[in-house]
Amino acid sequence: VEKTMDKIVALAKSRGFVYPGSEIYGGLANTWDYGNLGVELKNNVKRAWWQKFVQESPYNVGVDCAILMNPQTWVASGHLGGFSDPLMDCKECHERFRADKMIEDFAHANGLDIGDSIDGWSHEQMEAYIKEHEVPCPTCGKHNFTEIREFNLMFKTFQGVTEDAKSVVYLRPETAQGIFVNFKNVQRTSRKKIPFGICQVGKSFRNEITPGNFTFRTREFEQMELEFFCEPGTDLEWFNYWKKFCLNWLETLGLKDDEVRYRDHSQEELSHYSNATTDIEYLFPFGWGELWGVADRTNYDLTQHQNVSKQDMSYFDDEKKEKYIPYVIEPSLGADRMVLAFLCSAYDEEELEGGDVRTVLHFHPALAPVKIGILPLSKKLNEGAEKVYALLSKKYNCEFDDRGNIGKRYRRQDEIGTPFCVTYDFDSEEDGAVTVRDRDTMEQERVRIEDLEAYFAEKFDW
Ligand code: ATP
Repeated sequence: VEKTMDKIVALAKSRGFVYPGSEIYGGLANTWDYGNLGVELKNNVKRAWWQKFVQESPYNVGVDCAILMNPQTWVASGHLGGFSDPLMDCKECHERFRADKMIEDFAHANGLDIGDSIDGWSHEQMEAYIKEHEVPCPTCGKHNFTEIREFNLMFKTFQGVTEDAKSVVYLRPETAQGIFVNFKNVQRTSRKKIPFGICQVGKSFRNEITPGNFTFRTREFEQMELEFFCEPGTDLEWFNYWKKFCLNWLETLGLKDDEVRYRDHSQEELSHYSNATTDIEYLFPFGWGELWGVADRTNYDLTQHQNVSKQDMSYFDDEKKEKYIPYVIEPSLGADRMVLAFLCSAYDEEELEGGDVRTVLHFHPALAPVKIGILPLSKKLNEGAEKVYALLSKKYNCEFDDRGNIGKRYRRQDEIGTPFCVTYDFDSEEDGAVTVRDRDTMEQERVRIEDLEAYFAEKFDW
């Protein structure tokens, strides 16, 4: 079967994974709300990340920092000044483009040499190049552009009652900076020695010019970031370690070999401060897209903060009796993109014996929004089934469903990716056992109610 975004968006909406944002008011462009199942799925994804990157990690600890930060943070990080995007519009078709990207794409497509990078070009240089080479609009092919305008991707707002320059604050465009500014705090309070890492999960905001592809690129999104601090010279080793660790995490949670790949950045593509960068990409129905950026950022960020804040950001290695600014490996993952990838990967339509087709989400049990469906065969059996629900819902998100014939109820659970259904039937009253059905194999086995906790503990272990 063909997995299309249309099918996935439709299922997401009809089953309560993701709705269009502010829908009753006609929506707000490219905003999305997670519904009753979406919130469970997303929480499970974040929990699975936290479990492997923090809880089970001998190296890492977590933080949860403010979204609003002192604007000096963004001077140090490079987000204020210098790093904003040069935008221009096509006067014919009204599409909006980044002038630098348009020039690069044009030059690559036509085999023209534009030097190492056009990062340092002024607006005038870009405008002149576009004119001289008659760079066409990528959408309509005409040659009629507005001038370039500077555009900063950060959302700006005001803190306090006065709306003047002094009260301007920004919504963070990444969670990383909260980690960097707290590097010394965390190192001191956690008593960690290098190498160690700091993790954070939280919202980030970017006023993206071209959001789209459902939840793949939005202006408000959530990130799961690790900043891993290590000794200079060991950075490439740790870069490779985390690169593998991340891919392994994806595969453990069910992404298949042919759906994920590394895309190493070439020497030209690397940021000036980076020793190595790789994107882990997922094959979405619309093509390969970046899930996870893994970068060796050297000591760039901490040095920048040291320069701007005038605070010492160095670390004293008391075994080697050496002081240095640590190098940083940053694996940065988008929670919403991750959820979308798991949704796409899990989606399947299977032909059953007799020609029926079932839609099924093959989520890894750790990610499934509903873990166990509890189904009394008849409403007469609700009392006994409710006891099973009370028992299992202490540990797992369960759904009780007593409506419709049992086959339809199984299909419904398949469609939302519930890995197990427990059917309470007339025999259950006599033998104290229930039937457990497996979503993927559709096989059923009889399990005693008193053994259910141990049975599921093993099934959900990962
Ligand atoms: P892209 O090239 O797709 O814009 P990026 O290279 O700017 O991404 P990073 O700054 O490396 O992205 O951010 C790290 C991760 O955060 C990305 O790999 C992605 O998973 C997530 N992310 C970044 N921007 C968005 C967005 N607008 N919407 C959803 N997730 C995002």
